[in-house]
Amino acid sequence: MNIDVAVVGVGVAGAFALRSLSKKLNVVGIDKRQKPGYPVECGEIIPTKEEMKELLPDLEDYSLFDIPKRFESNKTKAFAFVLPNGKTYTVDFEMHVLQRDKFIQTVAAESGHKLMLNSRVSDFRDSTVKLANGEEMTAKVVVASDGANSKIAKRLGVWNYELASAKQYVMKDVECDEDTVYMYVGNRIAPGGYAWIIPKGDGIANVGVGLRQKFAKAVGINIHQALDTFVKEFPYSSCFLKKSEIIGKIGAVVPVSLPIEKTIYGNVIFTGDSASMILSHVGAGIPTSMIAGDIAGRVISGYLEGKNGLEEYEELWRNALFRVMERSYFIKSMWDRISDNDKRLVRYFALIGNRDMSMILRSRVPLKLKMAVPLIPLLNLML
Ligand SMILES: Cc1cc2nc3c(=O)[nH]c(=O)nc-3n(C[C@H](O)[C@H](O)[C@H](O)COP(=O)(O)OP(=O)(O)OC[C@H]3O[C@@H](n4cnc5c(N)ncnc54)[C@H](O)[C@@H]3O)c2cc1C
Repeated sequence: MNIDVAVVGVGVAGAFALRSLSKKLNVVGIDKRQKPGYPVECGEIIPTKEEMKELLPDLEDYSLFDIPKRFESNKTKAFAFVLPNGKTYTVDFEMHVLQRDKFIQTVAAESGHKLMLNSRVSDFRDSTVKLANGEEMTAKVVVASDGANSKIAKRLGVWNYELASAKQYVMKDVECDEDTVYMYVGNRIAPGGYAWIIPKGDGIANVGVGLRQKFAKAVGINIHQALDTFVKEFPYSSCFLKKSEIIGKIGAVVPVSLPIEKTIYGNVIFTGDSASMILSHVGAGIPTSMIAGDIAGRVISGYLEGKNGLEEYEELWRNALFRVMERSYFIKSMWDRISDNDKRLVRYFALIGNRDMSMILRSRVPLKLKMAVPLIPLLNLML
């Protein structure tokens, strides 16, 4: 079958690419899942439109972030960032807690383009997408929106980013403040990453840990032990979960590197996790995938109508997102250098105030952090 555009992977990036691809084109969205976005492998939070203006000041249009109420399970007002000794920074920060599966499914369906679900892409070569059932599709443009384990990135030899592992429960009867998203750090629960409680409303919450293998190996724990400790033992999280019951479980990965160097290879465009388009210090990829997917769809439509080149995509998404991704990566890299020892980490945080934390959560780098970089080897010895 010959088509104009194959969108491989109908997650966040794929759904938003479908949404902005011209209705005049012959487009197929392909996903291995029966229901796109389900099961939900995500904490499901995205900043509100007002927060997005702070977070991504380079964006020209914020209308993507007019999130309809029907996709929201909760709206939170604050982040609580909790250190290993329980010291907590509470920062005002408004977030939508999405019904992410419904959000993806609706955006994809309302695009009006054809969807082939329950269809795994098993191979890709020379513009031809091969499905596990043997069917083949040759497309003028291929959107690789197939996530962190991208088959297409592997096929083209560009799958070179670090992945963090995550495990998450959906729990009921959670007794935390439902206006607050909780982030916890420490080597007992989330070496190289963080753990979270994200209230979805009505006592239900996403409760998870994200960690990185090399850091977990150094302290001798795996992800199952980490989540178990977080839920049952860690005093500042288990206090909310005493009466809770697990009603869902997932395991997943998220990229934590800077984006791949080039995101266009011939007629293949990478978008979302497949290109590691992430705010790596917090593992946030929903907003970046929405934006990049949307840009991909618009650029491809223009390209196939003879109005612009495909290379415009690289420029547009980088203008919108790259600076904030770089800052986020800088914070993550600093974190990696100071977080291997909980006691020392707590001492470092004596230097960090609430205002600094508010900046860090918004991917801004406080001046004192920039100035501290050359001193880290010395501070690590002293603190
Ligand atoms: C546990 C966890 C919690 C997270 N929490 C948050 C959060 O709260 N907020 C936030 O902003 N980010 C969060 N993230 C990151 C965020 O979920 C991702 O960055 C974002 O979903 C990336 O979107 P995507 O469309 O690129 O990839 P995905 O949403 O992963 O979509 C990829 C799609 O491709 C399909 N696919 C894959 N391979 C094939 C194939 N061979 N054939 C056909 N289809 C295929 C998959 O079925 C999937 O539908 C979290 C990540 C994890 C793992």
